[in-house]
Amino acid sequence: MLETELEQHRNRLRELLGDSRVSWEPSQLQAHKRDTWFLNVYRAVHGRLTSVPLAVVFPETTEHVQEVVRYALAHRLPVVPYGGGSGVCGAIEPSARAIVLDMRRMARIVEINEHALYVRVEAGKMGESLEEELRAAGFTSGHFPQSIALSTVGGWLNTRAAGQYSTRYGNIEDLVLGFNVVLPDGRLLCFPPRVRWASGPDVRQLFLGAEGTLGIVTEATLKIFPLPESALFQSFSFPNMATGLEAIRQIVRNGWRPAVVRLYDAVESARHFPQASSGSDCLLLLISEGPGALTAAEAAATAGVCAGLGGESRGIEPVQRWLEERNRVPTFESFIDKGVVVDTIEVSATWDRVARLYDQVVAALQRVPGVLVASGHSSHSYPQGTNIYFTFAARPFSPELGEQTYLDCWRAAMEATLQAGGSVVHHHGIGRVRKAWLGHELGEALELLRALKQALDPAEILNPGTLLPER
Ligand SMILES: Cc1cc2nc3c(=O)[nH]c(=O)nc-3n(C[C@H](O)[C@H](O)[C@H](O)COP(=O)(O)OP(=O)(O)OC[C@H]3O[C@@H](n4cnc5c(N)ncnc54)[C@H](O)[C@@H]3O)c2cc1C
Repeated sequence: MLETELEQHRNRLRELLGDSRVSWEPSQLQAHKRDTWFLNVYRAVHGRLTSVPLAVVFPETTEHVQEVVRYALAHRLPVVPYGGGSGVCGAIEPSARAIVLDMRRMARIVEINEHALYVRVEAGKMGESLEEELRAAGFTSGHFPQSIALSTVGGWLNTRAAGQYSTRYGNIEDLVLGFNVVLPDGRLLCFPPRVRWASGPDVRQLFLGAEGTLGIVTEATLKIFPLPESALFQSFSFPNMATGLEAIRQIVRNGWRPAVVRLYDAVESARHFPQASSGSDCLLLLISEGPGALTAAEAAATAGVCAGLGGESRGIEPVQRWLEERNRVPTFESFIDKGVVVDTIEVSATWDRVARLYDQVVAALQRVPGVLVASGHSSHSYPQGTNIYFTFAARPFSPELGEQTYLDCWRAAMEATLQAGGSVVHHHGIGRVRKAWLGHELGEALELLRALKQALDPAEILNPGTLLPER
């Protein structure tokens, strides 16, 4: 884009929205050029992610969002919604022509309905701040992604996020009752809160996980829950992952729903819980919460299942430790500084496949040249199956091989997951890193998604380059 054209767009945006809502300060452009995808952090550290957007816009109302979208459509400029930028799949990588829409000034709680148990909140609200305000009123959202301090409500909806307490409360698609979304032509769609949907296909679902490609969410209505009356902690040690997974299967199959159900393999048990782990066993952490009578019954029943499978109690200390440390993660930069590439990859499978999937993905990752460690844990469970959240770290044989080694690890994990009959994503989304596997996941439905994109956004202005693979 010519410099004069660039200046014209920037000045025009300021005329539309006011000076304080539009920035092209170099520091703002830099801060909005990527999300937290490892590969783009790596490229940025090595000076290979140089493109910055045209401008960053900070809307304060839905009308501001509509104005920007209409302007962008008239001038065929891409618009990239930006929540907390904590996405880890490369869904945010604006081109030099793009307008980034930072939603974080739209952060008001519109209503806490204590009687009907829901909250209406603007989409740029950060998770931690939402939870603090709900707690002050005696409620919880039940949604605790590890990134709760880094992510927004709009980001959660657009990535189909999962929280650490999901086994009891559900994932974001279970927690959302309605929302408002600005379409790529500037129209506003409003879905009021509905406890169930039977008006034909649930069209709300089309926008969940869309990664900002189908609309810009400006407000959402989420379920809330009274703060739990009691919480009970337990942990158990199992000789291997397969037995620990069997314990979870039996617990959820019998109708119990501990809020937190986390099974770590031997590598991660030793890493996170050195006091409780023997070095070769797998630790299962359980938190039961809710009415006192329920948590007591659930804790007794889950302990019985674990004992029946040879699980040995490790007490409450590992759970307390996890609660203290659960949201602390080293930065990607700290690994890059040491010449190491790392990432996490979350997938899922039904109970008949998941133990094999765990073994096969770890083995596939270990075969990639340079891999130092490959490990996994299960953290979101259902009566029919569970997720496995893999972590890998690799030291490329030379700095030039960094990106290749990283991509080889992803390919190995994705292919092994598919071979084991799993789903290649559980909750981080598709972004750029998983685009190549979306077709495997959706089959013919990929064309349906393309048709939907074409129908809603024929000019392809909303977040181009993410989610949908190139033809
Ligand atoms: C340390 C760490 C821990 C994490 N833990 C978890 C976890 O426990 N569970 C989990 O699910 N994820 C986790 N993530 C991933 C990430 O936090 C989630 O994907 C989160 O939902 C992203 O929210 P965000 O507001 O940061 O969105 P962003 O990264 O800003 O955006 C994500 C996508 O949503 C789009 N988008 C953002 N806001 C809007 C909007 N209002 N309207 C339309 N599109 C929008 C963006 O364009 C982009 O495509 C973690 C990430 C990190 C870095």
